[in-house]
Amino acid sequence: MSRLFSPPRAPAELLIAGAHVLDPREQIDERCDILIREGHIAELGPPGSLAEPPDGERLDGTGKHAFPGFVDPHVHLRTPGQEYKEDIETGTMAAAAGGFCAVAAMPNTDPVVDDAAVLRSLTDTARSSARVPVGFLASITRGLEGTELTEMAELRDAGALGFTDDGKPVISAGMLRKALQYQRLSGGVVALHEEDPALSGDGVMHEGAVSAWLGLAGIPSVSESTMVARDGALALYEGARVHFQHVSCVESLSAIERLKEAGARVSAEVCPHHLTLTEDIVRTLDSRFKMNPPLRSEADRRALVDALRRGLIDCVATDHAPHARHEKEVPFEQAPMGTTGLETAFAALFTELVMPGELELATVVERMTAGGGLFGLPTPRIAPGQPANICLVDLSAKWEVGARGYASKSDNCCFHGRAFHGRVVLTLAAGAPAFRAPLLAEVGVLAR
Ligand SMILES: [Zn+2]
Ligand SMILES: [Zn+2]
Repeated sequence: MSRLFSPPRAPAELLIAGAHVLDPREQIDERCDILIREGHIAELGPPGSLAEPPDGERLDGTGKHAFPGFVDPHVHLRTPGQEYKEDIETGTMAAAAGGFCAVAAMPNTDPVVDDAAVLRSLTDTARSSARVPVGFLASITRGLEGTELTEMAELRDAGALGFTDDGKPVISAGMLRKALQYQRLSGGVVALHEEDPALSGDGVMHEGAVSAWLGLAGIPSVSESTMVARDGALALYEGARVHFQHVSCVESLSAIERLKEAGARVSAEVCPHHLTLTEDIVRTLDSRFKMNPPLRSEADRRALVDALRRGLIDCVATDHAPHARHEKEVPFEQAPMGTTGLETAFAALFTELVMPGELELATVVERMTAGGGLFGLPTPRIAPGQPANICLVDLSAKWEVGARGYASKSDNCCFHGRAFHGRVVLTLAAGAPAFRAPLLAEVGVLAR
């Protein structure tokens, strides 16, 4: 059964001519023509060797890069219940604008996605309005209250990709152990937001020199790492499959390394903001820099980049978390946690890590496309026979984040106002065009 939901769309008939194709899994890193017929990659050939399909389109890819479409295993689409922040249509428009060909939505909505009826109404909505295919995680516990498990098998039958109480940890080790036992039976990954509330308390930023200087309550790194260690030990003991969400500190990385060495079936994600920003920027007291887990120290940031490079962290996830302006434009301590991220993820990593030489472009592409596979979804590939899941990026294009607004309903982006390199100009998702930069048509790059 497919666990991704989107409307049927007219399949692409398209030639992308002469783009630099980079697909690390297929070991392609050269200029190619990509011929797409009926929404599938029909043929790859040397530049100039292939013709556009009859009644199809020819797109000049010269000077652009074609990557497999990105997959984000962690976004908040805010529906049901908070559609003033985001909904399936706008959230997936933001995804498409960022080069993502699939996303996985979190269940901390209102109501919580904790029963099959709520899940089915979401999959129905996605079938009519999603711009790119969406998968849904259901909650581990009813109402995210941590006291009663959901009907995990039934939720899996209704299409759940996996389970998470994201936004909150599962505080009771006994409750999580039970969930892991059910996970083995029902399948689906258990994804964990790791935080010990007894340690994070009412903290609003990373506990360290900057929080002390600002006089703000801090969230210590051990709030996360002790729970990673505990839950990893449970996963190992139960033989269950666990995914650690938004890992933010060096202590968690040590725990994950030990777990992987011991053979635990664990994976981990990291967010672009934790890879590129630190606690220092919180001195501005701009609530766009308030998220959970918080921006940590420079030593943490460097360790996260290194862990992503060597594959200790498996994938990039945005934790796209839209909030309305009236919610964020309050004193730092009172603002809700979260930043949007779908429209800026690639450009942030390219500009802040690839251009200065901290990461290889191929590594970024590999980790930004790996998130679905961890949840049992097919990984996008640029190879004949594959459905067209491709993003075309102009690496030389410089743009100011937010200058032309956002596809998301919300503008709480921690990169707002920054000048980034790398602009997504076209996204093909599940064989159909999902996004095309308006600029392309304006400058006449598109030619029929
Ligand atoms: Zn979370
Ligand atoms: Zn989240």
